[in-house]
Amino acid sequence: MSEDRYEPYDFANRRHIGPSPEEIRDMLAVVGAPSLEALIDETVPHDIRVKEPLDLGAPLSERGALDRLRETANKNRVLESLIGQGYHGTITPPAIQRDILENPAWYTAYTPYQPEISQGRLEALLNFQTAVSDLTGLDIANASLLDEATAAAEAMALAHRVTKSKANAFFVDENALPQSIAVMRTRAEPLGWRIVVGDPFKELKPEEVFGALFQYPGVTGAFHDFSEPIAKLHAAQAISVVAADPLALTLLKSPGEMGADVAIGSMQRFGAPMGYGGPHAAYIAVKDAHKRALPGRLVGVSIDARGNRAYRLALQTREQHIRRENATSNICTAQALPAIIASMYAVFHGPKGLKAIAERIHRKAARLAEGLASLGFEIAPQEFFDTITVAVGPYQGLIMKNAVDNGVNLRKVGRDRIGITVDERTRPATLEAVWRAFGGYDLVYRDDYPESRLPKALERQSTYLTHPVFHMNRAESEMTRYMRRLADRDLALDRAMIPLGSCTMKLNATAEMLPISWPEFAELHPFAPADQALGYAELLADLSQKLCAITGYDAFSMQPNSGAQGEFAGLLTIRAYHASRGEDRRRICLIPASAHGTNPASASMCGMQVVVVATDAKGNIDVADFRAKAQAHRDALAAAMITYPSTHGVFEESVREICAIIHAEGGQVYMDGANLNALVGLARPGDMGADVGHLNLHKTFCIPHGGGGPGMGPIGVKAHLAPFLPGHPETGGSSLTVAASPFGSGSILPISWSYCLLMGGAGLTQATRIAILSANYIARRLSGAYDVLYTGAKGRVAHECIVDVRPLQQEAGVTVEDVAKRLIDCGFHPPTMSWPVAGTLMIEPTESETKAEIDRFCDAMLYIREEARAIAEGRMDRSDNPLKRAPHTVEDLVGEWTRPYSREAACFPKGAFRVDKYWPPVNRVDNVHGDRHLICSCPPIESYAKAAE
Ligand SMILES: *Cc1c(COP(=O)(O)O)cnc(C)c1O
Repeated sequence: MSEDRYEPYDFANRRHIGPSPEEIRDMLAVVGAPSLEALIDETVPHDIRVKEPLDLGAPLSERGALDRLRETANKNRVLESLIGQGYHGTITPPAIQRDILENPAWYTAYTPYQPEISQGRLEALLNFQTAVSDLTGLDIANASLLDEATAAAEAMALAHRVTKSKANAFFVDENALPQSIAVMRTRAEPLGWRIVVGDPFKELKPEEVFGALFQYPGVTGAFHDFSEPIAKLHAAQAISVVAADPLALTLLKSPGEMGADVAIGSMQRFGAPMGYGGPHAAYIAVKDAHKRALPGRLVGVSIDARGNRAYRLALQTREQHIRRENATSNICTAQALPAIIASMYAVFHGPKGLKAIAERIHRKAARLAEGLASLGFEIAPQEFFDTITVAVGPYQGLIMKNAVDNGVNLRKVGRDRIGITVDERTRPATLEAVWRAFGGYDLVYRDDYPESRLPKALERQSTYLTHPVFHMNRAESEMTRYMRRLADRDLALDRAMIPLGSCTMKLNATAEMLPISWPEFAELHPFAPADQALGYAELLADLSQKLCAITGYDAFSMQPNSGAQGEFAGLLTIRAYHASRGEDRRRICLIPASAHGTNPASASMCGMQVVVVATDAKGNIDVADFRAKAQAHRDALAAAMITYPSTHGVFEESVREICAIIHAEGGQVYMDGANLNALVGLARPGDMGADVGHLNLHKTFCIPHGGGGPGMGPIGVKAHLAPFLPGHPETGGSSLTVAASPFGSGSILPISWSYCLLMGGAGLTQATRIAILSANYIARRLSGAYDVLYTGAKGRVAHECIVDVRPLQQEAGVTVEDVAKRLIDCGFHPPTMSWPVAGTLMIEPTESETKAEIDRFCDAMLYIREEARAIAEGRMDRSDNPLKRAPHTVEDLVGEWTRPYSREAACFPKGAFRVDKYWPPVNRVDNVHGDRHLICSCPPIESYAKAAE
């Protein structure tokens, strides 16, 4: 054991970086490089290398970093926020907090594209969809969107796609959340749609709009039955959207019962803390007729090779990857983990429990109103669920301040009213504090049953959450075991490496995760007064500064809450920049054929026309084609979107030239930062010629993937684009708003900040070097057995490598899917499949995996190659072999066995552990069956009885 383990500097690094110093030496020997520095010199083009080492201050120990985070957290002041406006206090049941939110089995999982290793989270997401579809009264719901405001914008885009109306305006209820209106405006403007805001009962002209959105209840607490405007919209062939509070829906007539086509909203108050804006799951639900237009991911029910029930993502062909520039949505990372939390909240409380919570909230709101009325204040509306506004004349400022002095935040409404929203956390003492703020010093909370202030006509008659999963025994032991059972079905980073190319599944260190549960980060309302969020301000400023140093950009916006949202926001800054120079005509966006599907989708959402650029046989952008297209479109050229290192996993030598070509023709360069894990400390996008680009903090900067979200996709810009960065109705800035809250999912930013603090500049740079070493080590170990498709000028790959599986198909009829599923038998999550090149696997080990784990993976890959050879040489059956039958389950160990290979070979191939074997719960899942018989909510009780047999 080397004594340098005790150096505090090395210690923090050592935790994050997988290979030990000895293992690094061994890996270098295999790769054939004399030193790490020599390998990097052969890999990263010299003309883009940074001259100075990255300096982010001295790295901290884990304890030191937590002390620093604590100090910062203490600068946030947690008051009770009765601000409402889309964000509410909620109680995360402790069992869910510990067993899901704080459990790496859940938070380190990847998006469930490989259904056999994802049955647990798929079931939880199906519960989410079932809860949403029941509560909204609509046929089908997806497995989450990013936030309520972007869900509203997605609903508008869906309406435009499915409507038969020729109108180009969209109507928005004046009672909608201001941030939703802002995001809808931002989304509508580039597409030439007009947003009309007004009173749905007076100002809606159905024949002039392709759709309309109504808020239920509205931001000021008022609500209406929208059946009549919805019927009028339908008569004009326009689409109706209702933005509804799911908790209110436990008491109120559903959007579906009003005839709505679409419902959207936020599931935040189902157990997810406000978190200074997120992460929270938004939902979207539609009538059956529109299911094929649903954005985002949809969980469906299918069967496996044995005919057993199995869950999977349905209709995957709708993804942006396939539709590309014809996609109407770019959503990729969504909010899987918050959706799972919301689903468990519904399972935990059941329909009766949820209704009881809603009733308690309503009673408190009614008492609050009574008390204020007794003080002589005029209250509106007369009928409400949880929100009222109070007329305060000239005393608005005074009362707001009194409230803060009493520990409560209220909401300013216009110049002379105050809004108050009661939530699950509101205590009797909170209401008394509010009364005191209004001068009611003697008012005492009475535990009585005030008269209901809900409108009789809108009382809910229909049932919801009737499925048995929402009716399990209320004992915590039952709930704990349910969550454990589901977690055990899945393969996440807590069991094995997840070598997914382009996704950077690295360590999510526990020390980085701890602070997100601290109330000072978790319980702030995103619109709380700035002087209560000084800790967040400090964190945001320091993280932005560090990201500027890392990337060479001059300013950052933390608003985009996914990479794809970052792309959209970044392209909008380019658009606004051109417009500011009177060059609105610039609308062409060059995108290489190999780009991630979100790139063309984001460009078309910005009203840009995508021109596809070829890539050459080496996976590089074809510079001649690029130049020709840039010149051909010179008058209309807006931007180029490039990914660096490329999606083929190589450092292109020509990146500076490519940027220069675009600039010469008056365009701007957007650099997709998903591959930043190959650059940090070595090269900076801002120095290469990029003008703007996003970072995926959930890839490079340690925010866990959560099974498909949350994520953060902040954008960095050069100074000339800084004036056009997103703003927000609550905090000012530009009129471009891409997310519901000013700083996106604020409460997960401490994770990325902690990572930077723990690693320091030298540690981050070392992480990049080791990520590159590990990828080259895999490429070398697999070479001979597999072709590594793309390499740089000196035969090296970047931080990932693409291996070709097509020869196995030719020789043995073995598909890339067979290899992927067989890797599950070996105890691994398969690498990225058939992207960016069909028939290949893209492998990204990251810096966090030990040599032993990487070797286990390489051994498994080599073993699979030998199995394919055995098939090719006729030693194994061509159709009845372990590759075609993979993955194998415990079912394969019992009963009759008639296959030409052994059970031992089936279940314990190279890589699989004997004692700690990961058993997938289902055999190979039938994708076609699932799409033919689309079922996207919990299957009926009988099928549960069958599964339990
Ligand atoms: C992951 C990824 C994106 C999209 O990021 P999300 O956070 O999932 O929206 C974009 N481009 C590339 C190359 C990626 O790998």
